[in-house]
Amino acid sequence: MSTIFQKIIDGEIPADKVYEDSQCLAFRDINAVAPCHILVIPKRPIARLSDAVEEDAALLGHLLLVANQVAAEEGLEGYRLVINDGAAAGQTVFHLHLHVIGGRPLHWPPG
Ligand code: AMP
Repeated sequence: MSTIFQKIIDGEIPADKVYEDSQCLAFRDINAVAPCHILVIPKRPIARLSDAVEEDAALLGHLLLVANQVAAEEGLEGYRLVINDGAAAGQTVFHLHLHVIGGRPLHWPPG
């Protein structure tokens, strides 16, 4: 079954895109938890980080670099990257995504 993020990749539903290349897409989270909340997703569907395999290493590295780039373009002083892996960790959309969160003080430990 197609996830909501696959529908965004396929152009079936709109998204506020901030970056796109052949491997990934970044767009603003519809329920932002901070002034900047961007999701970076691979175009290749990987349901969750724990499904990733050695062949995904370059793609995973690329996602990190894109997250860093979009954070810089947003002018963030610092930012937090979050990957929720599995329902027990709060994952609700089963298409791997990196949350890029910033623009306000971020507390630690997270909830
Ligand atoms: P997670 O809980 O880690 O699976 O995060 C899923 C994120 O996707 C949540 O922060 C949602 O607000 C976000 N989200 C769900 N649907 C959309 C959408 N159509 N456009 C943008 N963000 C979305």
